[in-house]
Amino acid sequence: MPAELYGKRRNSAGFEFGHRQSLETLMAGIGKDASAIQAKPLIPGGNASGSETPVISPADHRKVVGSVRNATAADIDQAFAAAAKGFKAWSRRPVEDRAACLERMSDLMEANRDRLLALLAAEAGKTLDDGIAEIREAVDFCRYYASEARRLFASPVKMPGPTGEDNRYLWRGRGVFACISPWNFPLAIFLGQISAALVAGNAVLAKPAPQTPLIAYEAVKLFHQAGVPEDVLLFVPGGPDVGAALTAHSALAGVAFTGSTRTAWAINRALAAKDGPIVPLIAETGGLNAMVVDATALAEQVADDVVMSAFRSAGQRCSALRLLMLQEDVAEHMTKMIEGAARELKLGDPSMADTDVGPIIDEKQKAMLEAHIGDMEKTQKVRYAGKAPNSGSFFAPHIVELDKPAALTKEVFGPVLHVVKWKAKELPQVLADIAASGYGLTLGVHSRIETTIKTVTEALDTGNVYVNRNMIGAVVGTQPFGGSGLSGTGFKAGGPAYLQRFALEQVISVNT
Ligand code: GLU
Repeated sequence: MPAELYGKRRNSAGFEFGHRQSLETLMAGIGKDASAIQAKPLIPGGNASGSETPVISPADHRKVVGSVRNATAADIDQAFAAAAKGFKAWSRRPVEDRAACLERMSDLMEANRDRLLALLAAEAGKTLDDGIAEIREAVDFCRYYASEARRLFASPVKMPGPTGEDNRYLWRGRGVFACISPWNFPLAIFLGQISAALVAGNAVLAKPAPQTPLIAYEAVKLFHQAGVPEDVLLFVPGGPDVGAALTAHSALAGVAFTGSTRTAWAINRALAAKDGPIVPLIAETGGLNAMVVDATALAEQVADDVVMSAFRSAGQRCSALRLLMLQEDVAEHMTKMIEGAARELKLGDPSMADTDVGPIIDEKQKAMLEAHIGDMEKTQKVRYAGKAPNSGSFFAPHIVELDKPAALTKEVFGPVLHVVKWKAKELPQVLADIAASGYGLTLGVHSRIETTIKTVTEALDTGNVYVNRNMIGAVVGTQPFGGSGLSGTGFKAGGPAYLQRFALEQVISVNT
């Protein structure tokens, strides 16, 4: 596909942490508005009653960030009814209008950056570095999908045909979409799904993860400010019961989901169990991501990239490195360097500029990580266990040496790096072991031999392959993101085939 098809776009500007004055302004900005947020369903005609649950910061359990009132079953019925009306008018609006709303939203996010950053740190435990990257990604999603919508949907395509017949091919919105998003990217993935669904002409019921309703609530309000009507984007916070009510509803036209493979299966089953229209599921799920390193790789670069990929964001990315496969000859040397670099990481308050690793999202996830290390201690070698602060849900980086890749049987969502050694002639087996996990999200390769890079990249159908670099932080429109197999349905977020999944094709043939 020629490069022009990917649209003209500019990615959101970065931030220079080394620039003292900018940092001082940023720190003053994020400290400014710390008032508690009271999130509630945003449903026209809904009745706002019910109990409020406090939202506690994972970085400091004494800090109440706000509260949320979850949607009830009656709220959800009302939301579908309101959104069905909203959809009618929205889907008929010119694509340009919808694209312009997304662009205004990205400008509003940039204008509100410091407030969003403070909230990402307080509610989701995001370090400033991660928070800035997340806001940039959210901004990029909106701008990219706006430009994609203009490319794809703005005008019907005239198809070839016999004389006397006019054939037009066009796209329309599908109806009311449920967007169900995860806590690990409570702004970027939340808005990525929503902006795609909206610009394709759908109304959206947005359900954030129960751990991060506040930033989502703020984002929905900004979208309303950007011009999206309140009956077109509705906010339906809640837990798995709200998710189940959304997916079971007869008026649902589509689901965008990011989260665990297990939940994606459950959604698939719920959709399959209903009569009525066949509803598509766009799912981005987990990964059991490996990096293959041979003896020719540059040790310093490997250490940097491994620490970044496995421990940054406290390993709470589905792209994160879980299984490092080191060629035996260099394994000890490289593991020592990685361990040394892991020791240097500073854990703590995510809103401080020098913090490298923030907390785990909640006590449940932390307990899961502790249980995993407990299991590993029984049969494998836990080589390094970092020290964590005890003010919040912290869990320090760990390095576990495995006797074989199959010793890791599940995605462990946190800062735990598993290391396996392989011998020079065993590369085909290494690749077979990676494929055997059934996941296909990200893959890293470090080698200075062209044929090894080619062999590894060609052997696997992993969605995002990173060669001689780290394997996280896919950039919208540059590294469209998403996997195959247990990692999701495709198509890739931030890529040229994503928006079509949210739309319906129609062909109108007129006998002239
Ligand atoms: N897109 C993110 C990245 O490339 C990961 C998204 C996720 O964790 O769901 O790191």
